[in-house]
Amino acid sequence: MDKQQEFVLRTLEERDIRFVRLWFTDVLGFLKSVAVAPAELEGAFDEGIGFDGSAIEGFARVYESDMIAKPDPGTFQILPWRAEAPGTARMFCDILMPDGSPSFADPRYVLKRILAKTSDLGFTFYTHPEIEFFLLKQKPMDGTRPVPADSSGYFDHTPQNIGMDFRRQAITMLESMGISVEFSHHEGAPGQQEIDLRYADALSTADNIMTFRLVMKQVALEQGVQATFMPKPFSEHPGSGMHTHLSLFEGDRNAFYESGAEFQLSKVGRSFIAGLLRHAGEISAVTNQWVNSYKRIWGGSQRTAGAGGEAPSYICWGHNNRSALVRVPLYKPGKTGSTRVEVRSLDSGANPYLAYAVLLAAGLKGIEGGYELPAGADDDVWALSDAERRSLGIEPLPQNLGEAITLMERSELLAETLGEHVFDFFLRNKKQEWEEYRSEVTPFELRKSLPVL
Ligand code: GLU
Ligand code: MG
Ligand code: MG
Repeated sequence: MDKQQEFVLRTLEERDIRFVRLWFTDVLGFLKSVAVAPAELEGAFDEGIGFDGSAIEGFARVYESDMIAKPDPGTFQILPWRAEAPGTARMFCDILMPDGSPSFADPRYVLKRILAKTSDLGFTFYTHPEIEFFLLKQKPMDGTRPVPADSSGYFDHTPQNIGMDFRRQAITMLESMGISVEFSHHEGAPGQQEIDLRYADALSTADNIMTFRLVMKQVALEQGVQATFMPKPFSEHPGSGMHTHLSLFEGDRNAFYESGAEFQLSKVGRSFIAGLLRHAGEISAVTNQWVNSYKRIWGGSQRTAGAGGEAPSYICWGHNNRSALVRVPLYKPGKTGSTRVEVRSLDSGANPYLAYAVLLAAGLKGIEGGYELPAGADDDVWALSDAERRSLGIEPLPQNLGEAITLMERSELLAETLGEHVFDFFLRNKKQEWEEYRSEVTPFELRKSLPVL
């Protein structure tokens, strides 16, 4: 038994923890959990816990359904809302096949594979997510319009604003689970919140995002409201993005930094961005995986007015340009470690393991292929005409899930990064969602056509 495992077993005893939840994530990014008694844990560390994989979305076919969840002791945390004795703790798991080999269906393994390749190339990949979400009075199950929990706006700080208490309690809880928060504020839409996590390696960030979503939902319930990570719950308000700042380090050195270069951005950084741009279309079905995702990444630059609310719709990069898909934030003099790129397409409904895997794969492809970075876009690209954008070589992002699926289907990069199993399941599942959506006659059509036709 290693030191981390010993620490877990000792803590269970000292803190009188009676339930240990083993967590993992399905292909679409939903958290799964099985609780085991502490006495089972030594065995779980050695051999894992068996479960029926065919019951988990995208995991296994019925005839090969036995799977194993093996807890990662480095992720042990006590759940703060179950901290009083007898308490509850959790660990993230790796999913294995009965012969002990890693499961190709496990999103955590998809990310680990590309991270291993990254480390073979001499890099460590860091991520810093800005997570936006809504607090709602209630979450109607019948498709009717939700009601936001407050009526505040960007950076508003008013005592009657539920968000303030909510954020304080939520952040305290995250910190007590070892998840550091850097910024938090009310976002542009009523009920909309943003909490930004401190940068960490991508696997920890993805684990942290899964924990984050649960904690937000838990704290919301305690305060009599509901949290949602749906990308675009309101037509008239901006959606919830999960902009993420990415950087590669070689040892202690930021590989994106070069003194004196434009925006202090190195050749590696420029090729990484070029990779993100060239492959933006084909990775879109993963970074923006729902029919609803495409209602967010369309529609303009106003933070509150209008539908778009600073979400990108076009494939371009810029420096201080919030309409761009990739933004290079302001360089802070002396802070060579802080050079990074912000990807703004990603939304809060993505599976973080898969989304970070495909973003990283696209960026690495740019580095390996020595891609040249096209000129940056200084203008507000929403304000340009289609013809102007065309003449600048700026293409749109896929306009709906159907287009994104078509691009994904042809992508070798995605097949390779996700592996055949996840690639096939994901496409099948998303085609089904798209077909269901296409076959539905919506209130919009009835409103638009019925009165006049
Ligand atoms: N809510 C916007 C989005 O959907 C982002 C606003 C911001 O710049 O933080 O991407
Ligand atoms: Mg924001
Ligand atoms: Mg941002």
